[in-house]
Amino acid sequence: MSDQPIQPPRPVRPPRADTPEVLGLKELKSAQPDLASAVDLQVALLDIQRRLQGRVPLPWISADDAWLQEQEKAGRALVRFGDIPLEWSDFRLAFRQNADVLLRFDALEAADHQAIVALAREGNALEPVVEQWYNATSGTGQTRPEGLPASLDHVLVLALRPFLAKCAEVLRQRTPLTASHALCPFCGWEPDFAVITPSAERHLICGRCSAQWPFASLTCPFCRNDDRARITSFATRDGRYRVYGCDVCHRYLKAYDARTAPRPVMVAVDTIATLPLDAAAMQRGYN
Ligand SMILES: [Zn+2]
Ligand SMILES: [Zn+2]
Repeated sequence: MSDQPIQPPRPVRPPRADTPEVLGLKELKSAQPDLASAVDLQVALLDIQRRLQGRVPLPWISADDAWLQEQEKAGRALVRFGDIPLEWSDFRLAFRQNADVLLRFDALEAADHQAIVALAREGNALEPVVEQWYNATSGTGQTRPEGLPASLDHVLVLALRPFLAKCAEVLRQRTPLTASHALCPFCGWEPDFAVITPSAERHLICGRCSAQWPFASLTCPFCRNDDRARITSFATRDGRYRVYGCDVCHRYLKAYDARTAPRPVMVAVDTIATLPLDAAAMQRGYN
């Protein structure tokens, strides 16, 4: 027996409360065990995002209102790279963590993971790549960085999301949306989900910054086909979700139907809940 003084018990830190998204994902997992690994991956990614979110400073948008309105009317992205409040040490960490989680869940090949993580380790190699990639994917006409795995996109989208979401929040207050935007008015990325609002409008949701904006219900955002006869739309049996397939470009978009739903759209949950719909859409020849 040692004669060390008795230590008072360490206070037990209560576990962090689950966010509505994490709760929704846990419910989904117990209702549909087939989706378990997709749910676990999503929970791990949300955890990285949440830890970063609180640290992202408010962006200072240097553009003036006249310039922003002109960009908006022309359908050009409002967020310029220099306006993104990137704290590089935070970004670098999130970038690595996202890559590690994707590898752990077999959503990233080991060789790609190695190349991606090396980029974050090599001095200042990452910064110019991120800048060039953002410019190339936000409609500035710049070419993408070369010689890097295509899966880098996935990691960059995830790591940039909290920073870009803050920019979109600020710009949404400043710039009214007047044009018809097939791409995200804020960051220029494609929509990857949609929501049908209680007033029966369709809002597209950006796959990168998560911003929402209204868009014609039966126009394809990928090729702008607006011939209703060439849009195939089908709903899930419970009416919760809908798929719009375009019979011109053969791409499809999933939507959450909030008209009779008990809760608003939760992209992090709804994109996972609709994984079986992706299979159904692909079976019908959409991609
Ligand atoms: Zn966006
Ligand atoms: Zn189309």
